[in-house]
Amino acid sequence: MRRIVDGVWEIGFGYVHAHLIAVDDGLVLVDTGLPRKAGKLALAIRRTGHDLADLHTILLTHQHPDHSGSLADLRQRTGARVVAHRQDVAVISGERPQPRHHWVMRLTAPFLRAAPSPVDRVLDGDGPTGVPGISAVHTPGHTPGHVSFLLDRAGGVLFAGDAASAMFGRVRASPKLTNADQALAARSAARLAELEFQVAVFGHGSAVTGDAVSRFRDFAARRR
Ligand SMILES: [Zn+2]
Ligand SMILES: [Zn+2]
Repeated sequence: MRRIVDGVWEIGFGYVHAHLIAVDDGLVLVDTGLPRKAGKLALAIRRTGHDLADLHTILLTHQHPDHSGSLADLRQRTGARVVAHRQDVAVISGERPQPRHHWVMRLTAPFLRAAPSPVDRVLDGDGPTGVPGISAVHTPGHTPGHVSFLLDRAGGVLFAGDAASAMFGRVRASPKLTNADQALAARSAARLAELEFQVAVFGHGSAVTGDAVSRFRDFAARRR
């Protein structure tokens, strides 16, 4: 677990992160990590000086099972409200199977299955999430309903999910083979460069903790 800024922590599950945000009336979680990780999350939360019971909202960047894996379990344990974009809801709630457009996803499917969960607040685009100070930015492409979240604190903290990644401080697009629509995904990542934020965290890859928007602007410039 790593403290990113005051009241924001990164919790790692092997290759994927979830992020915890302390707000005035409790805790918000951005993504839930792999399946069967609720216990590990509870432990990490306790180490921040909080309790799993304080969790009142789960913001989901997208439906992939490495992000939604422990969603159903956490919602059941805490009664937290689940927030996700309309275009990923049918997969999250189990009405539609997860599209597997690449052989890697088909290969991992038997081991990586998220239990279905209801979504309590459905997002239709950019705008409020129901949590004061946190807004949603629709960044489709990785999945149709992928959203990034912007926390209005510490100069702005962007939770990019899988809309982008970073390595050695260099922002890049998420791996082609995991994207439902490559061109749209790259456009969405470039669109994030138009926002204002100092810090960016990712589903995969290391957080950028200073002048992060410049790294996104470099990325957008490289695409032109
Ligand atoms: Zn993903
Ligand atoms: Zn991912």
